Amino acid sequence: MTTRPEPGRFGYAVLMSYTYFLSIGVFGIIQWFTDLDLKQASSSYLRTAFSIDQNSTVSVIMFFGCYILSVLPIGSAVQLYYKYTGRTYTGDRIGFAKSGGHDIATWAGLLSFVLVVYVFARFIPAGILGVGRVVVIFVASFFLSGWLTRTLTGLLYEAMYRPRLTTTFGLSSLLRCQILYPTNYARCPNPTYRILPICRWHRIMAEFRRDYQIAPWAAHVMMYLAGSSFFAVIFCSYQFSVTVDGRWLLPIVASTGMTFATFADSVMARNYPLSQYALWAKMLSTGILLVAIGAAILAFYAVLAPDATRAFVQQLTTDERLIDWSPALIGIIGGFGFGIYGRMFLRRVLFIRNRFANWGVYGVQLGLIGAALQPLFMNLSPISPQNSPDFWTPILGDSNLLPIGIVWFIAFNICEIINVRARRAELTDAEFKRTFEISYGACILPAVLGLFAARYLMIWLTLSGVVILGAISIAIAIPLCMATTRWVINWGRTPPLAR
Ligand SMILES: [Zn+2]
Repeated sequence: MTTRPEPGRFGYAVLMSYTYFLSIGVFGIIQWFTDLDLKQASSSYLRTAFSIDQNSTVSVIMFFGCYILSVLPIGSAVQLYYKYTGRTYTGDRIGFAKSGGHDIATWAGLLSFVLVVYVFARFIPAGILGVGRVVVIFVASFFLSGWLTRTLTGLLYEAMYRPRLTTTFGLSSLLRCQILYPTNYARCPNPTYRILPICRWHRIMAEFRRDYQIAPWAAHVMMYLAGSSFFAVIFCSYQFSVTVDGRWLLPIVASTGMTFATFADSVMARNYPLSQYALWAKMLSTGILLVAIGAAILAFYAVLAPDATRAFVQQLTTDERLIDWSPALIGIIGGFGFGIYGRMFLRRVLFIRNRFANWGVYGVQLGLIGAALQPLFMNLSPISPQNSPDFWTPILGDSNLLPIGIVWFIAFNICEIINVRARRAELTDAEFKRTFEISYGACILPAVLGLFAARYLMIWLTLSGVVILGAISIAIAIPLCMATTRWVINWGRTPPLAR
């Protein structure tokens, strides 16, 4: 034990625990499943488990059961915390939260309750015990959760607080990561990374943690995202089990990756004793890779097979407009996801920072988003050739859909190059990242305006042809893009708090 006791105030053990915001997602999942189950007219698992017919009563029992069982086992964890550290709960609420005991107790309680309810629903025939089943379920969950908490917390505390003496003699010891875990002075077992005194995983961790120095609250946001992503995993898995449609595996992969990445990121950002373990950096890296892969495949699928994508989305919604636009939406979101997480994986996990590798990912991202935007752009009235067929006819003839798309795409890419080069030259790395999303607007707009301006100019000058259209559009788009990029750079230089 290195730190002093941190008593905190009432409720701090909950607020300062690692996974408080994850529980919001899991409570959502349980609530969602409860609704789903109670909607079944005849064969409801939950009505059978409790042997109660009123849906409202069952809902209330489920809600309070989860709540009570997530609180009760904390006592067992507190006892063990006292045994290992000599500190009481009220004397060291925050320290207790940092030890992870609060999280283990909460999850052991929830798991036990869900497990016992499941056993009663599936294996204990409905007639036995009558309404007494509710009492038995609660008592059984209570004892199971206490045992589970004591076992898991005991294992954890034994590893965390039992003092270790690390030998510092010999070469093998020199080539090992120098990170010491703060509660028992055990040394990280991983080999060092290149010339650094620490391992790859602790380097990853140090860089990600630096992001949070300016925004400590972001750890909570990350844990909330982990909860939402976990909800998405369960939801998509359920859809997959019902529809047996293999395409559900794509969002399952992406949202599993997102759960891993945000969960590990949040735990690391806390900078608590448990946050120091290399395990979190491994989990984070796996998550980032899964998101990049899942997002890329989703986006490619949406762009290459828009009709199949619409049929797939039809399983979820009847909203015609949403269905119609779904390939574009999935393409854009997936493209962004691949770009952001793909580059993150290259730069911050593999430490590949040369320009070409990063531009490779960037190019695929641009291509995906461009391909997804193109039909959207064509469908917007009054630009749409279907809505006003003669709009482009004077300069391009009848089949003008593809040429316009190509001209726009080239102009957009030229704007991107101007934008990225200017930002690279004038902004710091952090400012460059901060201006990433807004730069899309700063490049799309000049390309669109250039195209329109060129059209009016060409009619006025009685010119025609796609090459001239391209040349004039680009000539107009370049100064416009320089102006919007200038604005983006000024915006990026302003500190976030001053905005
Ligand atoms: Zn290490």
